[in-house]
Amino acid sequence: MYDPLHDRLPGENEPYPRSYWASVSGKPEETLSHLASDITTDVLIIGAGYTGLSCAYHLAKYHQINPIVVEANQTAWGCSGRNAGFVLKSSGRKPYSQMLSEWGEEVMRGIYDEMCEGVATVNSLIEQGIDCDKQENGYIKVAHKPSEFTKLKEAAKLQQQMFGYDIEVMSQQELALNYMDDKNAFGAIRYRDGFGVNPLKLAWGYQKLAQRAGARIYTGTPVIDWGESARSSQNQVIYTPKATITAKKIVIATNGYTPKGFHVLTNRRTLPVLSQIIVTEPLTQEQLRACNLLTSNVVMDTRALKYYYRKLPDNRILFGGRGAISGKQAKDPYYAKRLLSVLKTSFPSLHDIRYQFAWSGWICMSLDDLPHVYQNKSETVFYSMGYCGSGVSFSVQAGKRMAEKVAEKSVPNLPLYNQALPEFPLAPMRRIGQWGYFQYGKIKDKWF
Ligand SMILES: Cc1cc2nc3c(=O)[nH]c(=O)nc-3n(C[C@H](O)[C@H](O)[C@H](O)COP(=O)(O)OP(=O)(O)OC[C@H]3O[C@@H](n4cnc5c(N)ncnc54)[C@H](O)[C@@H]3O)c2cc1C
Repeated sequence: MYDPLHDRLPGENEPYPRSYWASVSGKPEETLSHLASDITTDVLIIGAGYTGLSCAYHLAKYHQINPIVVEANQTAWGCSGRNAGFVLKSSGRKPYSQMLSEWGEEVMRGIYDEMCEGVATVNSLIEQGIDCDKQENGYIKVAHKPSEFTKLKEAAKLQQQMFGYDIEVMSQQELALNYMDDKNAFGAIRYRDGFGVNPLKLAWGYQKLAQRAGARIYTGTPVIDWGESARSSQNQVIYTPKATITAKKIVIATNGYTPKGFHVLTNRRTLPVLSQIIVTEPLTQEQLRACNLLTSNVVMDTRALKYYYRKLPDNRILFGGRGAISGKQAKDPYYAKRLLSVLKTSFPSLHDIRYQFAWSGWICMSLDDLPHVYQNKSETVFYSMGYCGSGVSFSVQAGKRMAEKVAEKSVPNLPLYNQALPEFPLAPMRRIGQWGYFQYGKIKDKWF
């Protein structure tokens, strides 16, 4: 499998992975093709996931700039077409309590507002007619230990006080009775505003909106090089296998799929980490009753190495967690089987259940646990990345803010938008650091 820390190309016109989403979503309304002849544009966007498509849509719709989008493989071939489809009011991994102590209340509230706007933006785009199998509202965070339930209740209290956030607190028994009888849960909190979607259909919907607004999208068109001579000229020259693109401004929207050494602005500033998903065969009514799995709310636990799951519209369970460390090991069935065995500890009555789909994808970690939308000094190259595995809603907001930057409009003065991604110290050893974190996480989740 493509490994962004080792490979310089994510592929060329690769098909979608054999995910559940690719199998149930049919086909996008329009088939796209590769760029076959040289072209000049004001803005070139690299990557057709949520970030790139949102940036394209907002540029064309609100700033009278019709960009070109190039995608190495298929629309949403990266994370956007293979994620778990949890639309949450959050991104990154930095707790609000830490933001408060580092930056003060105004900045913390500003970031919270951006996260809220992210979900609102997704909702407003869906309302334009995107059929993405949106499920009922609700995001349940389960405590995997009694001590974590105490922490969850404290966090809920803080968020209620700070933001007036409407959060339900549930004991182990209430959770089992009203939502699902998860044997690994020791109480939970429930946010009323997260929800699940079909992520691939969502991306195809964004593609249609962006095209209708005036963006042109080419798939099977990887950027393979940045022109040497371009550095001295005002325009930049970008090479793809069959054509050259000359652009005034370039947007890098490649997140966890950014190839090795792609651009000096992003090199050494991200850590791609594999997240793995399995989807089971459909549960029978009897199996659903045995787990008391009444809800289609999206569920995540409190572990450092998190597990997440949801019941899909056809009564299958999607279950996810960490995957392999390198691309070479990504397809080893060990990782899918490990998820299945954890699922069975949550729902022992499913002891015979099998999984029918298993795949993984590269999430994009940043050193400071925050996504960043930033640019070079001359404001000709922009990027947005580092959603840390939680980008379904915020990548759309980030794409919108990046469009504002490209169009030379002001954006909120927040670390999300006014700071570059920090560089990883000892960047060549990022994978060793990740392995170390996994070992720490295993110990923390079990013993502390
Ligand atoms: C298994 C998994 C589960 C997840 N679940 C959730 C979830 O439930 N909720 C949530 O909020 N987040 C989730 N995420 C994260 C979320 O999917 C991402 O944050 C989001 O999709 C990022 O979108 P993007 O457009 O920035 O990047 P991507 O969708 O990854 O798009 C980047 C694109 O750039 C293209 N590209 C790379 N290099 C080049 C090049 N040289 N030339 C042209 N194109 C190039 C790639 O082919 C790719 O299609 C999950 C991620 C994974 C992997």
